[in-house]
Amino acid sequence: MQRSLSAEDAKFQAEVREFMTTQVPKELRDKVIAGVAPTKEETVQSQRILNAGGYAVPHWPVEWGGKGWTERQYNIWQSEMQAAGVPPLLPFNVSMVGPVIATFGSQELKERFLPATANLDIWWCQGFSEPDAGSDLASLRTTAVRDGDEYIVNGQKTWTTQGQHADWIFALVRTNPDVKKQEGISFLLIDMETPGIEVRPIQLIDGGHEVNEVFFTDVRVPAENLVGEENKGWDYAKFLLGNERASLAAVGTMKSRLAQVKGYASRVLRADGSPVLADPLVAARIAELEAEVMALEITIWRVTGTSGDGKPDPASSILKLRGSQLLQDIFELAMDVAGPMSLQWLVDDDALAEIEDDATIPGWARRSTPTYLNFRKASIYGGSNEVQRTIISGAVLGLRG
Ligand SMILES: Cc1cc2nc3c(=O)[nH]c(=O)nc-3n(C[C@H](O)[C@H](O)[C@H](O)COP(=O)(O)OP(=O)(O)OC[C@H]3O[C@@H](n4cnc5c(N)ncnc54)[C@H](O)[C@@H]3O)c2cc1C
Repeated sequence: MQRSLSAEDAKFQAEVREFMTTQVPKELRDKVIAGVAPTKEETVQSQRILNAGGYAVPHWPVEWGGKGWTERQYNIWQSEMQAAGVPPLLPFNVSMVGPVIATFGSQELKERFLPATANLDIWWCQGFSEPDAGSDLASLRTTAVRDGDEYIVNGQKTWTTQGQHADWIFALVRTNPDVKKQEGISFLLIDMETPGIEVRPIQLIDGGHEVNEVFFTDVRVPAENLVGEENKGWDYAKFLLGNERASLAAVGTMKSRLAQVKGYASRVLRADGSPVLADPLVAARIAELEAEVMALEITIWRVTGTSGDGKPDPASSILKLRGSQLLQDIFELAMDVAGPMSLQWLVDDDALAEIEDDATIPGWARRSTPTYLNFRKASIYGGSNEVQRTIISGAVLGLRG
């Protein structure tokens, strides 16, 4: 496997890097690099800059803003965005509902939603999981009953990330309860302003509010908001999950975070006055992680999220599994390097985002524990890692349980 870039790809990389580091405001990128989550307004601002430059949805069909790049170029684009600290593109728009509408939606739905989705004029959220339907997603019970030109939706979604900001939700709903469970599911687009929708916050272990419960009570949805065919939603959901999993292996983010941790380890001093980095065990952990991140990057180059025919590529499960593990390992290392300083967030967590990295107890050290705790989620969302292992053993390795 060739690791060095061709002259053409190196030129492409330089162009992307130039755009990301000159067009997206530096203060915004510095904030992301420091591990502070961008606000809704900052995410919108950044995505619109990228969209204007043709860098928001390059993997979409060309007629809807896609670029027709090679796989290597898509990987360079992602890596450069992450390394520059560009606020992540909203995945619900860019990697999830956009490609589903572009692939399976009617021409009318494409025209109505795709430009606004790329430009983040519409903020989408994902309404798949329910209290008793996570890993076993096909057991979902939210119903959509046809009534003339409308569906009437009743039920509950949960873990709805950033649902508090959303204008629209793409939801899996049960339209036929009398068939095999996978065959009675449809993919419906629902305006969050519709009467009968209630969003309730869920507080995470780090104290933050990023997920929600969403309740539907007799919510009337125009039938024209159905994507593709009724009762074929499971196929569209599998396609979406393949894309979601592939996009979860954020190698650029890992590289820049790991380089940061290495920097912290060279500045934090041990009792004898030597840097933490001088500890051979710490140095070995860093070296091992650097090698693992490189291995993941090569794996990403070898596999893509979805195969050309719209079916999910099971290899995306490998990217999700390793990507989430490595991200968690890097955040754990940061917390260990911070040592006792990592407990400081318990004292004054309100101002965490504001504390500079050159403060007596630096901001990065105070944020290391909540960040570590927050990213326990990475091995759960997008399909838990245990479930990914089952997919890998069956669909990639051909093993039978
Ligand atoms: C922070 C966060 C954000 C999320 N955002 C969204 C979102 O925006 N939209 C959305 O729809 N969903 C979202 N999710 C939901 C996520 O997809 C589910 O949490 C996930 O699929 C697991 O489902 P569950 O929570 O119901 O756990 P369960 O399915 O109940 O699993 C519980 C445990 O059992 C294990 N397990 C279950 N089945 C098997 C099996 N067959 N083999 C081996 N082990 C198994 C799991 O690995 C897990 O450890 C989010 C979750 C989190 C934590």
